[in-house]
Amino acid sequence: MTTVDAGRAAPPLPLTARRSLAGPVLAVLWAGAAAVVALWWADTDAVVGAAGRLTGAGRIAGLLCGYACAVLVGLMARVPLLEVRIGSDRVARWHAMAGRYTVCLLVAHIVLILAGYAAQDRASLWHETVTVVLDYPEMLKATAGTVILFAVGVTSVRAARRRTSHEFWYYVHLLTYAAVFLAFGHQLALGEEFNGKPVATAFWYALYLGVAALVLWFRVLAPVRLNRRHRLRVESVHREAPGVYSVVVHGRRLDELGARPGQFFRWRFLAEGMSWTSTPYSLSAPPRPDRMRITVKALGDHSAAVALLRPGTRVWAEGPYGSLTADRATGQRSLLIAAGVGITPLRALFETLPGEVTLLYRARGAEDLALGGELEAIARRRGARVLYALNGPHGERPSITAQSLQATFPGLAGHDVYICGPHGFAQDVYGALRAAGVADRRIHHESFEL
Ligand SMILES: Cc1cc2nc3c(=O)[nH]c(=O)nc-3n(C[C@H](O)[C@H](O)[C@H](O)COP(=O)(O)OP(=O)(O)OC[C@H]3O[C@@H](n4cnc5c(N)ncnc54)[C@H](O)[C@@H]3O)c2cc1C
Repeated sequence: MTTVDAGRAAPPLPLTARRSLAGPVLAVLWAGAAAVVALWWADTDAVVGAAGRLTGAGRIAGLLCGYACAVLVGLMARVPLLEVRIGSDRVARWHAMAGRYTVCLLVAHIVLILAGYAAQDRASLWHETVTVVLDYPEMLKATAGTVILFAVGVTSVRAARRRTSHEFWYYVHLLTYAAVFLAFGHQLALGEEFNGKPVATAFWYALYLGVAALVLWFRVLAPVRLNRRHRLRVESVHREAPGVYSVVVHGRRLDELGARPGQFFRWRFLAEGMSWTSTPYSLSAPPRPDRMRITVKALGDHSAAVALLRPGTRVWAEGPYGSLTADRATGQRSLLIAAGVGITPLRALFETLPGEVTLLYRARGAEDLALGGELEAIARRRGARVLYALNGPHGERPSITAQSLQATFPGLAGHDVYICGPHGFAQDVYGALRAAGVADRRIHHESFEL
């Protein structure tokens, strides 16, 4: 590691750490699941015999599956409160978890209900399946919804995701809305918990209509409003390092967006071949009232095409999202640890975080350092330190361990640490920081994998 500039810290400013909403939101979600099971409990006088037990378990699984569907769609509604106070990456992980629960509950619901009905009717499982699908109200639509949900589940399995493009996965994923819509009718038509029960029915409608309203507002109407109001266009494109380009986007009254350093937007460039994809990129400089900047590393088709953008190209943005912001800090000393293009949000924070700030920037070689000149200028201006962790002359990687971090950053445990970089790097650094005694609540991380 090389110290570029060491000096005096910027004067301390009052900070109030903003608490994550993860705990309270999780509590509400689990309370909702308990309320759903209570619907079944309130409607069931007694469970009699094997058929009764199978059907009862199938009904509970079905109710929970219906609830999980609403939750997983709601989590992806991009509600700013969740995106900013919990973090987009964490919300995406919860969504993926809810998706796994949904598929398991769906399988359990189908198997248990059909087995219970077959035992009740003393019919074969096959005969019961055909009867339920063809003769019961709303069941053809529900069957179509089930097939779609399974297809979405299959394309989301890690091995399948690796083999398909992000766009394919994304557009198949959008079919979840159709699946949930198709399955909704059979829940009310066949669910005994709703039959002649206005309160339970109103609860179910409120759940689904509430989620639909969130999706409509935050995924459709709010972005339309943002883009009509701010009229974004590419102003210029600059090369920063091999395969790394900055794009300056011009717009009107951008201060009204409330974007903060460390946050990101989803960007859709309305240029040939690019308008189908909306891609998350962090602000690589604090936003100004008339311009924002992103810095992009070419990793695939979309990110490589960014270098070819022409000034004047229209831009469609959604955001701001992300919780890697100054208000997460709990004290006056911050350490920013970036690897590769993970420097982008940390570059914006480096300029603006109050208190004493140090930046550790990991890259393969000096030629791979993006935004290096700016970082040094900021360091000089605010009296902060930048350190680089580069490979050795024969490609040896610098070891970032608890001991090396403690030796380089005296008083490490008293710092808030912001990490941004590839998943493996972030995990290693997190482990080293914890081993060095940095409290979990002081480590702030955003993943570039949603
Ligand atoms: C919150 C966040 C902030 C990011 N900020 C930056 C940044 O400032 N600079 C930068 O260079 N990169 C950033 N990234 C990563 C960047 O979004 C991907 O590198 C980019 O999407 C690659 O797209 P591609 O089509 O060129 O590559 P592909 O070859 O299609 O994909 C490469 C990788 O990116 C993932 N990816 C592709 N499209 C998306 C998408 N729309 N949403 C989520 N993941 C996607 C793929 O699953 C794959 O893992 C950020 C990612 C996230 C989640």
